[in-house]
Amino acid sequence: MKPLSTIIVRPGEADRILTGHPWVYHGSIHHLTSPVADGELVQVKDHRQRFLGTGIYNSKSKINIRLLSPERVELDAHFFEDRIRAALAVRQRHLPAATSFRVVNAESDQLSGLIVDKYEDVLVVQTSALGMDQRKELIVAALQKIFKPRAIIERNDVASRKFEGLADANGILAGAHEGPLSISLNGLKFTVNLATGHKTGLYLDQQMNYELVARFAKGAQVLDCFSFLGGFALHAARAGAAHVVGIDQSADAIAAATAIAATNGLADRCNFEQANVFDWLKSQTAVAPHEKVIPRYDLIILDPPSFTRNRAAVPDALRGYKEIHLRALKLLRPGGVLATFCCSHHVDAGLFEAAIMDAAKDTRRLLRRITSYSQSPDHPILPAIAETEYLKGFAYELAR
Ligand code: SAH
Repeated sequence: MKPLSTIIVRPGEADRILTGHPWVYHGSIHHLTSPVADGELVQVKDHRQRFLGTGIYNSKSKINIRLLSPERVELDAHFFEDRIRAALAVRQRHLPAATSFRVVNAESDQLSGLIVDKYEDVLVVQTSALGMDQRKELIVAALQKIFKPRAIIERNDVASRKFEGLADANGILAGAHEGPLSISLNGLKFTVNLATGHKTGLYLDQQMNYELVARFAKGAQVLDCFSFLGGFALHAARAGAAHVVGIDQSADAIAAATAIAATNGLADRCNFEQANVFDWLKSQTAVAPHEKVIPRYDLIILDPPSFTRNRAAVPDALRGYKEIHLRALKLLRPGGVLATFCCSHHVDAGLFEAAIMDAAKDTRRLLRRITSYSQSPDHPILPAIAETEYLKGFAYELAR
């Protein structure tokens, strides 16, 4: 093995690294023992020369080093094949029936800066760190060996690349693929556009929750807010909902969800409306003074986009969460269920529930929490890396 450059971290930094957090910020570095090129594999030691691990260096990023192993490793074809096979084994264990899922979730799989999503026989790769971007060929070769996919697509239009000094790049890395792709989630057919869809196509992180929430749908009048392709709506319709309304501000999403409902033979029970959820809820709950809103839904799903990308905007985000919950609660029948999600890492479960309780207080409704939700197991949570946990949700029953 060729010798590696050594980077010494400041006193006090080792513990976080030893518990498994793989990021070394610029400010945590004491010194470099020799010049290091961006993208190079380095070894990290503490000020007492204790070995902490190996990782990739990038001077352009605030995260100067992304650790990949507590041991000495070689970043060759074997390394990527081993790591990706290990990641796949986790998915096969926890989502044995899934055919579309996240294969590699960056830090969750000790591959900081790499995401690989599998949509049936097409793989979508996202490299959000320089070290992974430079090793795309090795990654593609490993993926071809393991999956023999029809195509491997690069979906590198994420904002975080800019912080690593990387430009956007979208295209085909191997094989051939064009146009929409039909995939199956929990036995329902969805059409996704891998070149333009949200994330790398759709929200795989809700795959498990679609089925869990649909348990409350039998015979219900259902409202799915921020419905996108209708993930929650269609699972609810299949589970026997009386009727489902999906609301999304994107005309494309509404058209796609409507078509997907028809493909699955659920069109008679679903309709999707293009609207801003805030405005729509406001109009549905507007009444003359001394009149009461007549609640008419038995199951309401709130799955908004992240209302904040940073800590400073958290108070605004909480106001947004309170507002939609306040109005949704007015539309929920006693005994009905509110299933609500928050995908912002900066708003934790405690803050999120406090906003919901604030809304409940204003509407004088009493909520019984019946279950909690998290991201699907193909987005594994490592408690040592707080950033790996971002999606949380609750289901509440409205007391009669
Ligand atoms: N529930 C969806 C994911 C929702 S993602 C699923 O499981 O796939 C967020 C969605 O909210 C996007 O489709 C976006 O178009 C929509 N959106 C964002 N802001 C909105 C608003 N103010 N009103 C309505 N839709 C909105």
